[in-house]
Amino acid sequence: MPRTFSFFIFHFSFLIFIASSCAAQPLGHKKQFTRQDTLRGTITPERAWWDVIRYDLQVTPDYTAKTIRGTNRLTIRVVKPGSKMQIDLQEPLIIDNISLIKTATGNTGSSEAAADKTTLLFERDGNAWFATVPSLPVNSIQSIEVSYHGKAREAIRPPWDGGWIWTKDKKGRPWMSVACQGLGASVWYPCKDHQSDEPDSGASLSITVPDTLVAVANGRLANKQLNSNNSTATYSWQVKNPINNYNIIPYIGKYVTWHEDFAGESGKLDCDYWALDYDLDKAKNQFKQVPLMLKCFEYWFGPYPFYEDGYKLIEAPHLGMEHQSAVAYGNGFQNGYLGRDLSGTGWGNKWDFIIVHESGHEWFANSITSNDIADMWVHESFTNYSETLFTTCQYGVEAGNAYCTGTRPLIQNDTPIIGAYGVNQEGSSDMYPKGGNLLHTIRQIINSDSTFRNILRGLNKTWYHKTVNGKEVEAYISRQSGIDFSKVFDQYLRTTQIPVLEYSIKGNELKFRFTNRIKGFTIPVKIKTGSEEKWVRPTEEWTTISGSGNTGTFSVDRNFYINVTKVNGQ
Ligand SMILES: [Zn+2]
Repeated sequence: MPRTFSFFIFHFSFLIFIASSCAAQPLGHKKQFTRQDTLRGTITPERAWWDVIRYDLQVTPDYTAKTIRGTNRLTIRVVKPGSKMQIDLQEPLIIDNISLIKTATGNTGSSEAAADKTTLLFERDGNAWFATVPSLPVNSIQSIEVSYHGKAREAIRPPWDGGWIWTKDKKGRPWMSVACQGLGASVWYPCKDHQSDEPDSGASLSITVPDTLVAVANGRLANKQLNSNNSTATYSWQVKNPINNYNIIPYIGKYVTWHEDFAGESGKLDCDYWALDYDLDKAKNQFKQVPLMLKCFEYWFGPYPFYEDGYKLIEAPHLGMEHQSAVAYGNGFQNGYLGRDLSGTGWGNKWDFIIVHESGHEWFANSITSNDIADMWVHESFTNYSETLFTTCQYGVEAGNAYCTGTRPLIQNDTPIIGAYGVNQEGSSDMYPKGGNLLHTIRQIINSDSTFRNILRGLNKTWYHKTVNGKEVEAYISRQSGIDFSKVFDQYLRTTQIPVLEYSIKGNELKFRFTNRIKGFTIPVKIKTGSEEKWVRPTEEWTTISGSGNTGTFSVDRNFYINVTKVNGQ
């Protein structure tokens, strides 16, 4: 998702910082986690025995009443014996029925006959529901149907707070969608709401709306059916690839569409664009950036990960979100982040932040997904860095460097980038600019863009359509580069300390060392003394270099995200 930015938030967090400093309270107070946090964020025993194979979801929103009604059929594989099944659906929504669907073979099927359903008993524990299931053979494929209804939580400030969005377009016509990253898809449909278990065989979403509106969702339109008895239409969309729960999203409004083919690394990629009717011309013009983005990201990251499902960019009633194969766009058809350059260098106003950032997530978030949102840096740090790589593709290395280093004033170093595991807790929003600058620093240390690019492509190949622990990504980068970055990741992801390079010059002697670092942290750094550029490897001990070249100026290559301080008397 896009990082949240507003002047209000900047000033507000600054005041909090002052207040907490005055009161001498530690920054980053530990949140007290509840049983509900654990139910949501952990693979509980009631989740562990089954693997999600597919979701087939049907939903009918009622715009006037702001309610929804639907069913989700969960196709699952039994991986071990289990007697209770945890299904997540957040308050105030209500589950009406949970049934085990039987077929002639005892496996999954599409029979709707009432006789083929066994109603299961269930009870509620907050946002988690527990159904009692009969003994099911290990390795069998089963089908569980959950029907539900109610008033789904409404999003007040999407995409950041999440929920259903019941709004109007500029002509006063209904415009609906959902944003639920972090909060979780169980805010609007019943599922196993944990990032580590994606439906391996994809999902379908059927949306029934008044026939004057159009419903768009992920993947490809499989069917459109007019229900003449009640003037509604049912749009059925199909996703073949694994998909994150929070990415399955309906968009409902007065949409129009156009298509283009993109000649990509894996052949012809279908690109479909959806905008509100009155925005068609503006959208057609702004969305010309899509092929440029795809070309750049395929170069750095490898083939677009969802050729089967296509690429879509869809106008949304919020700023934007990485909804897989149905990217949400709400940046007002202008460049920058709502017209602003986050880097302050001018480069960020040369392209559309939402087209670039949210599409970058197709590789990092949608194809490679972190098992726990504590490791959300795997999504946001790489995608933040995709902005730098796009700037580099379009305007050259120096422009990319300027963009990346220009975002450093946004870094707060308030709490670590990695959050708490097992309780659905993200880390600091520093996962965006600080994470990007960490990757930029790693790229400098690797000092070979072909190696760096191979690592990015290798990550996308190794964890193509898979979930991953952040630690595995860290180890992969060290292994493939031949450089042990473990202390670098510990320093930048697990502490808020930024290493300080202290130096002094006396006569012909240059001395330097690292402070404000964790034990064992050291990186090679490119410095310039006088007119001479060279690599040095500072440690926690003073290193002395003698030579006439040291008497001039001293600087550290700005592409390394460290602080530099001159000290006297060493
Ligand atoms: Zn993002």
